[in-house]
Amino acid sequence: MKVAVITGPGDVELREEPDPTPGPDQVVVEVAACGICTFERRLFAGDKKLYPVAPGHEAAGVITAVGPGVDGLAGAPRIGDRVTFDLLTRCGTCGPCRRGKTSLCRHRQGRILSDGTMSMGGFSDSIAIDSKSVYPIGDAPMTHAAMGEPIACCVHSLRQGGFRPGDRVAIIGGGLMGRIHMALARVGAASSIGVIDISQERLDAALEAGADWVAKPEDALEAGGMQDVIFVTAMAGVDLAVEMANKGGTVVLYSAFDKELPATVGADKSHREEVSIVGAFSQEPDDWKYGAALIRSGLIADELDSLVTATFPFERISEALQLVTSEPTYRVFVEPEHD
Ligand SMILES: [Zn+2]
Ligand SMILES: [Zn+2]
Repeated sequence: MKVAVITGPGDVELREEPDPTPGPDQVVVEVAACGICTFERRLFAGDKKLYPVAPGHEAAGVITAVGPGVDGLAGAPRIGDRVTFDLLTRCGTCGPCRRGKTSLCRHRQGRILSDGTMSMGGFSDSIAIDSKSVYPIGDAPMTHAAMGEPIACCVHSLRQGGFRPGDRVAIIGGGLMGRIHMALARVGAASSIGVIDISQERLDAALEAGADWVAKPEDALEAGGMQDVIFVTAMAGVDLAVEMANKGGTVVLYSAFDKELPATVGADKSHREEVSIVGAFSQEPDDWKYGAALIRSGLIADELDSLVTATFPFERISEALQLVTSEPTYRVFVEPEHD
């Protein structure tokens, strides 16, 4: 099988690796699509120097083999199932894991290739993975299924924010993550959804995709008023989010932020108005289950379609990486071919 390894800024090569076989409780998935996320973009651009590494953590495919420990078990995945899957490993024994907060596991072991190169597993044409980490997606397109990971992260974010039907929602940042938040808030019956961004192009796209209102940051308060849950999916906008929070409102810090950036709500506002700031990081199995069910249902299919910027055959992964490092995109995918 082939694996893509980023060896330095602007350099990616396809390596031949032994075909995977399933461990007792594993399945083998033939990868059909893998998305390129910020992590891969930063590696290829040279902003994150972790070479060599075989990245790719947003993938989907078809099960081709099932290990003996799960073969035929009721509810277990079967050969031929089309699935999205969780490539993060969680130790299950650290403090956060034992509290059920597996998104915050202290010991996320990675995978390695035959020569010891660190691997995430997505940029390959097949992979062996624990059967508990795969989630069936029915007949949904593989590009949609490959967004299972970011969708699960956004489901986690809505949960962290205590989002409920009827809530007024604002989303700061109209990129892929902002747009997935928007789709989830829509199917969750938000009473209104606003998107805030500095890019007019992204605001126009969000409006076309069904946002109730859009605004540049300086106009947001006037355009949208007070909000019940505000998701910050950009690297800035925390103060604006706090300012927009209605009484009882919650600000969710979804994005990665500069380590020095403070996020504060005054003690009195926190007490009298019960405004709170919470973080949302990564995802948990239940978020995956919810996200995969949404993908399978087709309820957010139109939104997901509009987020597929381009697809490339796996062999042309270098062009795909060049595209994401040269211009703004939602999601670009590589698609391994199989006989
Ligand atoms: Zn990602
Ligand atoms: Zn753990």
